[in-house]
Amino acid sequence: MHLAQRMSRLGTETAFDVLARAKALEAAGRDIINLGIGSPDFRTPENIVEAGCKALRDGHHFYTPAKGMRELREAVAEDILARRGVKVDPELVMIVPGGKPTLFFALLMLADVGTEVLHPNPGFPIYESMILFSGAKPVPIELREENGFQFDPEAVLAKVNARTRLIIVNTPANPTGGVISESALDQLVAGLERYPEVYILADEIYARLVYGRARHHTLLAYESIRERVILLDGWSKTFSMTGWRLGYGVWPRELISHAERLQINSNSCASAPVQVAGIEALRGPQDSVARMVKAFDERRVAIVKELNEIPGFSCVAPQGAFYAFPNVRGTGMGSKALEKHLLEDVGVATVSGTAFGAFGEGYLRFSYANSLENIREALRRVRGALQPA
Ligand code: PLP
Repeated sequence: MHLAQRMSRLGTETAFDVLARAKALEAAGRDIINLGIGSPDFRTPENIVEAGCKALRDGHHFYTPAKGMRELREAVAEDILARRGVKVDPELVMIVPGGKPTLFFALLMLADVGTEVLHPNPGFPIYESMILFSGAKPVPIELREENGFQFDPEAVLAKVNARTRLIIVNTPANPTGGVISESALDQLVAGLERYPEVYILADEIYARLVYGRARHHTLLAYESIRERVILLDGWSKTFSMTGWRLGYGVWPRELISHAERLQINSNSCASAPVQVAGIEALRGPQDSVARMVKAFDERRVAIVKELNEIPGFSCVAPQGAFYAFPNVRGTGMGSKALEKHLLEDVGVATVSGTAFGAFGEGYLRFSYANSLENIREALRRVRGALQPA
């Protein structure tokens, strides 16, 4: 077999490997609690399911325009205005199958051999994987526990040079649950005004999942860099729709036709009935989202408390998304070894911090997209297993 050379540069998302290993153990009769995968455990709200079913019955089974149905792009623009206070031209919105394609397209069109892309580390693993695939050099932005996993704007700006094409910013963040403050974004943007060639990918897929006093601040709100911001968002996390595959990008005017060409060459368009369901999700009642956010917040409080009671663990409270990222150095075990031990011997699926980049060593990601009951039972098992003899 002669695989193309580029395939050797493509990584993966370990959460999917953990899911497969957990399923295999379950198939062999083991009782596994899955705190590995980042998929909400709630059912998609009934009004959205009904809209999707009705769309099929109504005959929505053809191609749509490549950028997506006009009505859905308008609904996205309305939603951005209502929630982020930013006016967006629906012509610059492109609907895609999930959150990932917007990232994929941004890297395919901007990154190249000899260029650099800055990305958070620990961060969503597909960033580094796809940067490498594009041929560009991944330049990690280290996120530190001491700063609540926020980046230091000065340190980010110090890494920008003539080869930099794109900076990826993720808030609220996977895997840390960190939410970037408005003042950190202000500083970053002020610095980026000196680099008019650099694009910014704002991955805000967890924008509605923020807790306590934390607030989500969007990079799209900054006029001075507006023409260089690509916004990534979607339905997966907010509406518990990970398997439906629906997301969107808001593109700078000079990039939208390139994004559309990439879409025509790959997906043609997002699924038609799923797009109709997406309209209902945005324009229909929002009470189920509010209920999910409330439930996540309760679990967040519980998981942080319980994690801090485990010998060798310490956990800062995440402010957004649905992940806790405790420091596990006190156990004396490496992250990967601990992940394996907890899955195979304790029956709890988690993801090693190293799956999110080298700076994730010493941490473990627990997804709290699972019931309070399962979370409590999982952490009871972990505490029992790590209790000094
Ligand atoms: N961006 C971040 C930060 C994520 O955590 C994820 C999913 O885990 C995605 C993008 C991709 O979302 P989707 O499943 O909709 O492609």
